Amino acid sequence: MNHPVIFNISIGSQKPHSGKQPVCPFCQPESLTNILEQREDMIWLMNKYPVFAETEPTLIIETAEHNSGLSRYAKKKLHDVISFGLEKWDVMEHDKRFKSVIYFRNFGPNSGGSQRHPHSQIIGLRDYDYRDNIDKENFLGPIFHEDENCYASLSSYPICGMGELNVTLKSSGKPDTFADTIQTIARFILHDFPIPCTSYNLFFYHLRRIHVKIFPRYTASPLYMGYRITHVMDSDSEQHMMNILKSNKYFGD
Ligand SMILES: [Zn+2]
Repeated sequence: MNHPVIFNISIGSQKPHSGKQPVCPFCQPESLTNILEQREDMIWLMNKYPVFAETEPTLIIETAEHNSGLSRYAKKKLHDVISFGLEKWDVMEHDKRFKSVIYFRNFGPNSGGSQRHPHSQIIGLRDYDYRDNIDKENFLGPIFHEDENCYASLSSYPICGMGELNVTLKSSGKPDTFADTIQTIARFILHDFPIPCTSYNLFFYHLRRIHVKIFPRYTASPLYMGYRITHVMDSDSEQHMMNILKSNKYFGD
């Protein structure tokens, strides 16, 4: 069993939060420090607020446009953002200081993110392997989309809750349609998920393959919170959701 990661509350309380700050820090690139790399308007930098102990927190500001977002990016922008993220994640995964590296992104008020401005986080964990908490079964389930680079499924064994959607990058797959698939699922969650949803997270995992989970965020089930009992939806609802995903609005031809 992994020991819990320590959250430094005093650093957390200094951290600015959208809505409580006069200006967005990511809208002022000239004031940013500890930049690791800049490519067009994407900036990879150290996170100023290292709230988790024994970690190396970095973040990627994805765009100069504050009100944009993954579900709104034009194709080229989307591909650039996902490729840049995968590339920097790979760089950190090759850094011997880390036992594992997590890569994720938040969107919306219930996603746990504190900044509206589109960004992702890549965090090196010095003595924690997140893969100890994950099983390969967590990425299995009925498939609703497949192309030359990736396939997408609805989790039959979710990590946390109902409606977790997975995209798996094939072994020699390229990131472009992988990114397109992620974006289409993000749109589905915001517009047609059976529970109204304004928020989601993306979580990337590197087991034998690279997977991403798109987690719709709604109030978590008490069964999960108290007992770690996960649930999946009834078969009629699942079929209905799969039909929408396979329709022309999303993954149909
Ligand atoms: Zn901003």
